[in-house]
Amino acid sequence: MLSWNVGNATITSVVESETPTSPRFLYKDMGKIDVLERAKRAPWLRPSFVNDEGYLLQKIQCLVVELGDLKIAVDTCVGNDKQRTNELWANLDGPFLADMDKAGYPPDEITHVVCTHLHVDHVGWNTRLVDGQWVPTFPNARYIFVDAEYSHWRNQPSLFHGEDPFADSVAPVVDADLVDMVAPDHRLSDEIFFESTPGHTPGHISLVVESEGDRAIITGDMLHHPMQLADPTLSSMFDTDPVESRATREKMFPRWADGETLVIGTHFGTPTAGRLVADGDGFRLDWS
Ligand SMILES: [Zn+2]
Repeated sequence: MLSWNVGNATITSVVESETPTSPRFLYKDMGKIDVLERAKRAPWLRPSFVNDEGYLLQKIQCLVVELGDLKIAVDTCVGNDKQRTNELWANLDGPFLADMDKAGYPPDEITHVVCTHLHVDHVGWNTRLVDGQWVPTFPNARYIFVDAEYSHWRNQPSLFHGEDPFADSVAPVVDADLVDMVAPDHRLSDEIFFESTPGHTPGHISLVVESEGDRAIITGDMLHHPMQLADPTLSSMFDTDPVESRATREKMFPRWADGETLVIGTHFGTPTAGRLVADGDGFRLDWS
């Protein structure tokens, strides 16, 4: 289990799944040969983030930030028992909750749930199925949603037949009065706060942890794969506004590339995090 110390905070990765992913799933018209070409120009991408065949090495994980009394679960993966059109995500029966226990974070001790955005692979464990009902997985937590993000998805019809992550993973925690709707510059404490990173979705945020002079960023999906550090112009097919998501990366990466900021990529394969440094026209991660 990966974890990082950031001043007085610890950030622990609880992985739900880890899968080599076809680049075409994330990037329009990008084949595996194209990925290998990109990795030639940015050799640090291999073998951790790109395999020999040109697949992207991705994971779906919850990042738990612990600092003082706060235990914050950031992004709650796909979840078990959900009806999903993507067969990799449909009707899962995985050990995620047992893994949270093993990591030292039983669900009833989580104080806050933060969703960087409300996509299907970031809200799933907000709820679990008990006696045919979706109930909050983290009953003692406040769930923190950005107001603009919530309003956007509340007004969208379900994207796929039979799949409605808003209804099974967002609405039930709202109905249970566990949600605080906040602005995209919300602060959870002096040391833990949101940074607005829109484009992937309208109310998307990244989470910043600053403690004792150390600094870490949990990216969410303002990028999906480290190739986008090497080439910040590259937007994912899942970006609501790919022009805005590019502008967000081009604004944020230079700020984070001070050689000291630990960038933790929500979907990055192991090692998942590193210091961001400038490299040619783009950036690279340094985890040595
Ligand atoms: Zn995602």
